[in-house]
Amino acid sequence: MNADLERLIALQKLDSTADAARKTLAAEPEHEQALATRLEAARQRVATAKEAVAANKSARAALEKDVAVQQGRLSKFRETAMAVKTNQEYHAVQHEITFAQTEIKKIEDTTLERMMEADDLAAALKTAEAQLAAETKAVDAERRTGSAAHIEMQASLEQIAGERAALVAGLDQGVLRTFEAVSKKRNGIAVSEARGGVCTICHVRLRPQVFNTVLRNDSILQCDHCNRILYYVPVPASAATAPSDPPAQPAS
Ligand SMILES: [Zn+2]
Repeated sequence: MNADLERLIALQKLDSTADAARKTLAAEPEHEQALATRLEAARQRVATAKEAVAANKSARAALEKDVAVQQGRLSKFRETAMAVKTNQEYHAVQHEITFAQTEIKKIEDTTLERMMEADDLAAALKTAEAQLAAETKAVDAERRTGSAAHIEMQASLEQIAGERAALVAGLDQGVLRTFEAVSKKRNGIAVSEARGGVCTICHVRLRPQVFNTVLRNDSILQCDHCNRILYYVPVPASAATAPSDPPAQPAS
């Protein structure tokens, strides 16, 4: 293979790896934000569950007060009932007693409902707390993995920069300029494998004499359509009889 073509393929590999690492590094703040949002949502669910438990508790305290008031009235009416002199007075006080008893019954029913609610709310709080603990653990683990990956990617970028400089130093400057120009125009991908007579990136069929020349891998040739520098990977003898990919529609 043409030495420059070989270097370009290696250069493309380095550039693509570096590009992916840079994109991951650039996405880190957004990823961290997503983790913080997840954690905050779990904290918020615990806070909401705690508020519901507290509201239920104060509602039950208010009901206890209400029932005490009604019980106070009831005993007062019962005392009065002992001292009444007329039938009319007796009926009036009896009416008050019935009313207070009905009120007490109502409050007791509501209290029972609130107590059952309290059990559900306590269970919900426990679930929310368990979820928060699990989320905290998961987010911590993701952060640790993330910072390990960060260190690794930075080291890899430094290594790539060194390897790239060495490769570029050995390249024909004209070829390098072509590579850089196509890379810039084609989203960082400047070389493309030609297979079955087609450029595998833009999918456009190559002119037969272009493809025949690419098969030799001995010169720098560009795809007529996407301008990427073409190379050919010889098919292993065992796979040589396999049908080639059908030609697809032109892409970029
Ligand atoms: Zn192409």
